[in-house]
Amino acid sequence: MKKSINTFLVAFLGMSGVAMAQYPNTPPEVSPMPMKPEMTEIWEPQVKVVTPGKSLGDAPSDAIILFDGKNLDQWVSQRDITKPAPWKIVDNDHMEVVPNSGGIQTKMKFGDCQLHIEFSAPDVVESQGQGRGNSGVFLQNRYELQVLDSYNNRTYSNGQAASIYKDVPPLVNAMRSPLEWNTYDIIYTAVRFKADGRVDSPARITVLHNGILVQNNTTIAGLTNYIGLHMYPAAHGDDVISLQDHGNKTQFRNIWIRKL
Ligand code: MG
Repeated sequence: MKKSINTFLVAFLGMSGVAMAQYPNTPPEVSPMPMKPEMTEIWEPQVKVVTPGKSLGDAPSDAIILFDGKNLDQWVSQRDITKPAPWKIVDNDHMEVVPNSGGIQTKMKFGDCQLHIEFSAPDVVESQGQGRGNSGVFLQNRYELQVLDSYNNRTYSNGQAASIYKDVPPLVNAMRSPLEWNTYDIIYTAVRFKADGRVDSPARITVLHNGILVQNNTTIAGLTNYIGLHMYPAAHGDDVISLQDHGNKTQFRNIWIRKL
């Protein structure tokens, strides 16, 4: 039922006695039978219908809503996961980091996912470099997509907004001013481990920042480290998504996720 076109192609090439190649760029010299249009059509399984949100950035019908501005019911405190998330709800619209209250994390665990999250740096610009509007989105609770006010704010390139922190700089700086909202649309492929605990395939991430491609299927080198080279930790599975308290009043809104 789930045979792909390539499965058919390999079978076809095998039958014809042509050396098997997954992606040939020339037609086989000997064709045992003429190809028909329906031989490359996939009908089953049918593709699931998902209703898009009203506007770009709105949650589609199959998304899990992690934050809609009203409460932090989907989140807990990172300092004590039995306690509610300690950040502030503002105007039934967004949440704001309460500096030094600790990070927050989702109750649910995720692996491969599509994540939409909006953020804004504090309206009053304070400090500079890493001290301005710093937070972060940690995929699988370990791998940080940096959140920072990178609007007219120089810091190291792999530490600015939309970098994989201390790992890979973004392709461009797409940051809006602190008075505006930013979007991240993230497509994340979780790290895979072998049975012996070694990495089978590293995590990968694609990120659109305000609709602009900033990470293009980037390979994540490992655990986010402030000091030292990256490497992967012991084998782990799906895990929570966490948001960092870096001592700045960074704001978040409209967070939704689709499991992939
Ligand atoms: Mg950070």
